[in-house]
Amino acid sequence: ENRRLGDLKMNGKVFLVGAGPGEMSLITKRGMDLLACCQVVVFDRLASEELLDLVPENCRKIDVGKRVGNHPFKQNEINEILVREALNGYFVVRLKGGDPFVFGRGGEEILALRKEKIDYEVVPGISSAIAVPQAAGISITHRGVSQSFHVITGHTAEGEETLPSDMEQIAKLNGTLIFLMGVGNIGNIVKKLVDGGKSLNTPVAAVENGSLPSQRVVRGTLETIEKIIKKENIHSPAVIVVGDVVNLDFSSENRGPLSGVSVGITGTRQMYQKLAREILMMGGRAVDFAYSTVESIKNDEFELFLEHLACNNVKNLGQSTWIAFTSGNAVEEFFKQVKEKQIDHRRFGELLFATIGEGTARKLKAYGYMTDFIPDCHTGEGFAREFVELLKEGDRVYLPRGKKGSSKLKDYLESYRIEVFDMAIYDLSLDQYKMEHSLECINEVQYLTFASGSAVDSLMKMLENPKEELKDKQLVVIGEPTGKALEEWGIKDFLIAKDCDAKWMCEKIIENRENKWKD
Ligand code: SAH
Repeated sequence: ENRRLGDLKMNGKVFLVGAGPGEMSLITKRGMDLLACCQVVVFDRLASEELLDLVPENCRKIDVGKRVGNHPFKQNEINEILVREALNGYFVVRLKGGDPFVFGRGGEEILALRKEKIDYEVVPGISSAIAVPQAAGISITHRGVSQSFHVITGHTAEGEETLPSDMEQIAKLNGTLIFLMGVGNIGNIVKKLVDGGKSLNTPVAAVENGSLPSQRVVRGTLETIEKIIKKENIHSPAVIVVGDVVNLDFSSENRGPLSGVSVGITGTRQMYQKLAREILMMGGRAVDFAYSTVESIKNDEFELFLEHLACNNVKNLGQSTWIAFTSGNAVEEFFKQVKEKQIDHRRFGELLFATIGEGTARKLKAYGYMTDFIPDCHTGEGFAREFVELLKEGDRVYLPRGKKGSSKLKDYLESYRIEVFDMAIYDLSLDQYKMEHSLECINEVQYLTFASGSAVDSLMKMLENPKEELKDKQLVVIGEPTGKALEEWGIKDFLIAKDCDAKWMCEKIIENRENKWKD
């Protein structure tokens, strides 16, 4: 066809996106990317409401799962909405629970779109058929127990006759049987399976609201399950699993002391990675608010020091020359600038290194240096107090640090007549755009961590009313100065981790969590 561009009517496009089984993070990356820029989202009951927070502010949200008046949307009405919106040129996400092609009627919607020559794309989702048994600890195949699994509708669109017509053959299968949309029809399912030859002792589980906090699981056999489901009032959405795998329980429900806890992490990427690792290990969930980046600052004092280092033996600098690192960032920035100046590490021969805590010491170790001093008490004060005992008059201390850091250590050491070179060699700056975007999910977290005063200030500046917006979150900080920074914003209730290390932050959260249970 030789149509010119101007003649083309610009249709929109419909993306059929699988939302996963319920818990919002179980959508695919591609699904999230599409939601983040769609103009219209058409969703139903099964898709997580939290996913709707991902769409742009001016996106239109059409709920086709709600009953308007007493009148539910019929499939052809949904088809019409999709066609209408696409013909109006919109970028439409049709969000569906689980996977669009697993009892999702995705095909019917596509046929309607094709009829109007509307473009579409399908994005798969994690089907409840697989994810819901998994959430209950059921492995739908297992070596020697079940070599196949079969997903069956417990209830079809055609009125009275609700089960597949070949239930007799289905009953003869040895693999795991997985029924969707079946709770309301459990009596019938059980009867057909038993009539078809399945033993009454066959294990059965029903999982309601799989993967969500409200998840409930009941177990029984073909003989008992109907009674149990009625007694426990298990209702839709639920998945019914039939087969010996039901007896094996691989549930990871109790994944650790932070199971069910969400922690928002501010600071740098490295901070996020370190703390997130601890939190995930403890069974919790980490939410990324870490949009600070480290930027080098040229510092005259430091340049001079490096120049001296480049052409002299350090010994000439003073009695003993210490480099005191009060953060991991300082270590990294120090070595980054050393490398830029192409200084041979052998020049460090006589230098001594002090680190404020384990984390900083580990950073240093990664560059091949053991720390010469680490205090027993890993606070700024403890560090100063213990460090000064090691020093003699005439010693020099170089203090590479962040621009927004405190100058207390310098003042303290100087009061003991130690020569201190306070060098701001880096600054932390915030990626505003990313931060704003991620703040939209601040409601998801129960804990929020801060590793520095500048992390506190950056976040508070982005909130309209920090005190109010953070009032039901438990804030956790590393070190007194970070706590002070919070107090300056009028926030008095927070936890302080005793050590400058991600491990201790995590520890503090676990402790707080346990105390809450006790109360
Ligand atoms: N396309 C969806 C299935 C749609 S049919 C998918 O791939 O998952 C709807 C049925 O899915 C429900 O009746 C129920 O059997 C099952 N289901 C969906 N989400 C569920 C959940 N969170 N917990 C239990 N069952 C669920």
